[in-house]
Amino acid sequence: MVAVGVDADLVRALENERALNAILRSVVREGELETLLEECLDILLSVSWLSILPKGGIFLADEGQRELRLVAQRDLAPPLLTLCARVPFGHCLCGRAAQERRIQHAACVDHRHEIRYPGIRPHGHYNVPIRDGDRVLGVIVLYLPDGHPSHPAELAFLESVADILSLVIRHRRAVDELERVCRELAVLACTDPLTGLYNRRHFFERLQAAWAEAERHDRPLAVALFDLDHFKRINDTWGHAAGDRVLETVARVVRRESRHYDVAARLGGEEFALLLPGAGAREAAAVCERLRRRLAATTVPVEGEDGIRFTASFGVACRRRAVDVHDLMRRCDRALYRAKAEGRDRVATA
Ligand code: GH3
Ligand code: MG
Ligand code: MG
Repeated sequence: MVAVGVDADLVRALENERALNAILRSVVREGELETLLEECLDILLSVSWLSILPKGGIFLADEGQRELRLVAQRDLAPPLLTLCARVPFGHCLCGRAAQERRIQHAACVDHRHEIRYPGIRPHGHYNVPIRDGDRVLGVIVLYLPDGHPSHPAELAFLESVADILSLVIRHRRAVDELERVCRELAVLACTDPLTGLYNRRHFFERLQAAWAEAERHDRPLAVALFDLDHFKRINDTWGHAAGDRVLETVARVVRRESRHYDVAARLGGEEFALLLPGAGAREAAAVCERLRRRLAATTVPVEGEDGIRFTASFGVACRRRAVDVHDLMRRCDRALYRAKAEGRDRVATA
């Protein structure tokens, strides 16, 4: 591969460039940070002109800048997997590199090499901190043949590797954080914050999808709307916070009473909805009747009082009698209105 007469420095520069580029490509690769760091370590260990032995590891530092955790390694002696699993800042060569934020070089197992084990062979080290400004993100530990002096070209190259690894770590963490926030936002976007049930928007999305699915396979589908009776009185008597606790309790009961493929939602105020895929009118009415009884038997404790009792009225409609989802919801509304008009605390079917 090396042409006769080509300057050794040029060959080294090309090899460095290739290795640094390969490590840099980890920034755009998918995968866990630990796996990416393992791949980067392999690339580093394969640089032929470095005097390093073919083994080493990469640590990550904790948030509090107190401890290093070994997250990637190649061919470390088995005792080290336990002894070096966690290394406090300031302890041994890696801990010193983290504490002092500069490369430690050791030509032999000297007094700084505090972690030892029976049968340890003579060797040296480069311990390279991975920095992000004043913070240390981690440390690379490399092995040297016993007696190998510190070499300026090796030090300069390892500084570059650490800079790129800093970028890899920060980028991976930023992407992970972004994904976490996106997942959280997606949950928030479809959830009612007070009860944790689905919100109105998500309910209607699910209803549209369930309607299409039920039509395609000609399966039953029912929806129940229910509304707490005289809820305003609860607020007026016990206060708004107690009213909120009633709403939370309703959500708990509904969750307990519904099947995992039912969709329970709080549409707003004290109005809730249940989407019941696969249920016909009679089955849906039975589900609501059971829920109605459970709610009527539930007490929400209030300090120094007997507890709040409450009831709900239900309006049920099924797909077979409706022409579209709007018609289905109108039928639920009408049935609910009838349940209220007929005395509340009851289930009416459209
Ligand atoms: P009906 O039996 O006819 O349904 O009577 P109601 O009193 O339950 O119905 P109305 O619509 O008159 O009152 C609903 C009350 O619900 C009024 C409103 O202040 C209260 N409410 C709406 N949202 C919330 C909430 O998030 N928390 C609390 N505590 N109260 C709420
Ligand atoms: Mg009400
Ligand atoms: Mg209402």
